[in-house]
Amino acid sequence: MYPPEIETLDDRFAKLALDNVRLEKLHTGCRWAEGPAYLPAGKYLVWSDIPNNRVLRYDETSGAVSVFLAPADNHNGHCVDRQGRLVSCEHRTRCISRIEHDGTRRVLADRFEGKRLNSPNDVVVKSDGSIWFTDPTYGIDSEYEGDAAPQEIGASHVYRIDPESGAVTAAATDFVKPNGLAFSPDEKRLYIADTGASHVKNGPRHIRVAEVGDDGRSLGPAAPFAECTAGLFDGFRIDTNGHLWTSAADGVHVYAPDATLLGKIKVPEVVANVCFGGPKRNRLYICATTSLYAIYVNARGASWPS
Ligand code: MG
Repeated sequence: MYPPEIETLDDRFAKLALDNVRLEKLHTGCRWAEGPAYLPAGKYLVWSDIPNNRVLRYDETSGAVSVFLAPADNHNGHCVDRQGRLVSCEHRTRCISRIEHDGTRRVLADRFEGKRLNSPNDVVVKSDGSIWFTDPTYGIDSEYEGDAAPQEIGASHVYRIDPESGAVTAAATDFVKPNGLAFSPDEKRLYIADTGASHVKNGPRHIRVAEVGDDGRSLGPAAPFAECTAGLFDGFRIDTNGHLWTSAADGVHVYAPDATLLGKIKVPEVVANVCFGGPKRNRLYICATTSLYAIYVNARGASWPS
């Protein structure tokens, strides 16, 4: 028997949902929960509470929640690279940073062509070590999620940090407010959400998908993939079979690689981002406004960056 939160829209969803599980509420008391990342070596999840300027940690072995970082420069998105290091999007300091194995924080990117970034939002690491991130303006639009400031670049792009040189190049420049992003399991496609409807009337509320060039570093034109049917797509993750598990206003929406909406996991708060965790990567962690939820699913997170 599927839990009441499971809404099946296509028969294929039956293979992705589990019966006899339930949506668990693990923690509450956040203002805007975002940016989950699972650290497999430590068996814990970190996530951002952006307006409260802190990063929290859920210990999977005990269920305890504690403060991982505070103040946290209004961190937003996180991911874990193949060396197990935490990579962070920082709103207040308008940069991408990484915590090294000795605990030091290293800024990897804070400018493009000499101008300060807006406020990096979400990030993913490719298997070649390159770091890809989005840079909308949510962290400089007001004092709520960072420090209000004018834009220097004047646009919101998707960027790539080169693993050897550290150079920051623009990978996609035709987005209004690029937000979540994730590679397909074979890394031949990059999916990117655009939440431009937050700023532009009738603006984008969709995910587009771009082919990665043979050089592994360029992107082809981004084609429409899915239009959000409830609120906005913010962050998302992709499982080993290429299904997208994406945030939306009424829960998590699950798309097949052919862009069919297969089903939903209904969540009682607006969802901002998700992440696969657990030793088998089959536990979906869900950051939803004030709370952290989780549910076991019959799918596993694809990429090493969790
Ligand atoms: Mg986001």
